[in-house]
Amino acid sequence: MTQKNTTIVPPGNGLVDLFVRPISYLRLSLTDRCNLRCLYCVTEEEASGCLAKLAPDELLSYEELLRVVRVAVAMGITKVRLTGGEPLVRRDVMRFIRDLTRIEGLDDVRITTNGVLLERYGRELYEAGVTKVNISLDSFRPERIEAITGVDCFAQVWRGVETALALGFAPVKLNMVAMRHVNDDEIVDFARLSQRLPIQVRFIEFMPIGGSSRWSADTYIGTDEIMARIAAIGQLVPVAKGRNDGPAEVYRLGADAVGKLGFISPLSHRFCSRCNRLRLTSAGRLRSCLLHDEEVDLRSALRDGSGDEAIRQAMLTAIRNKPEGHHLDEKLRRSGGDCHGRMSRIGG
Ligand code: SAM
Repeated sequence: MTQKNTTIVPPGNGLVDLFVRPISYLRLSLTDRCNLRCLYCVTEEEASGCLAKLAPDELLSYEELLRVVRVAVAMGITKVRLTGGEPLVRRDVMRFIRDLTRIEGLDDVRITTNGVLLERYGRELYEAGVTKVNISLDSFRPERIEAITGVDCFAQVWRGVETALALGFAPVKLNMVAMRHVNDDEIVDFARLSQRLPIQVRFIEFMPIGGSSRWSADTYIGTDEIMARIAAIGQLVPVAKGRNDGPAEVYRLGADAVGKLGFISPLSHRFCSRCNRLRLTSAGRLRSCLLHDEEVDLRSALRDGSGDEAIRQAMLTAIRNKPEGHHLDEKLRRSGGDCHGRMSRIGG
């Protein structure tokens, strides 16, 4: 749904959308390139290298990204997440991150990574002030990781997890996309890991996005089933959520567990009413919902000589267009259709 009245911007109180949701969180996709080809993320064309990547001048430069973030922070954005593609594969990424974390008023910069380069960049990230990390890991079995990602990288990713824990990153979250007949027999193993390590294991429902569509109703597993399987081995104790905790419902597996479990249910229990996010794609388009294809072109505003007011207006337009909910379930029922944006450009 697109509404055209004005976004409410109460002075001093940050941004609020038309459905009175505070908007305080910006996700930046730094690149559409990735060193993995996860079967739930890329299209078959992308996996085979047939789909063109963005040319360097189609990506926003670091200077452009910093300018956007400065304007966004002045408008009330307080939290930024770096994603992709794989954010750590972009050239000179640490130079950008150090400049980013120095932006006044921005005290929460996080990263989502597949972990392959975390052993190499962990210390620099931590020292730059990025101390919160989400690492994607869908299996503990090396051969299965290779089947899912296209690369034999389990050992490297696991060293990335160990590096993050050793350096004191907190939280360290592991993102696991649960898929029937692919990795669902490891759901309980992932849950058990949270009993002995200070990590939050997050079970993410497989979303039909970007035509990746290995998605099928059969492969999809809803949160209720995931939770039921875990509840069969121990008690799920709810954990109160913090202000910046995002869409996950959080539990411990038994009161003594060191870590936590998060359940993210974009399809079965939509969390749209709590969504506080805006996304900037690697092509410089503002997107107000992961699963809604409408975008606002920010790159033109950055390159046509306009002042910062044009950036502000583009952000306000995106916020004004933020739909109340994603309606993906209805779309699927009607046409089997998905959302067309490519995950690698939007960022997860
Ligand atoms: N390369 C980084 C990584 O692997 O974490 C960041 C980008 S990746 C697109 C971000 C997140 O999106 C990952 O945790 C991944 O599991 C999730 N993701 C990608 N495609 C998905 C899908 N179809 N359904 C659910 N989650 C998905």
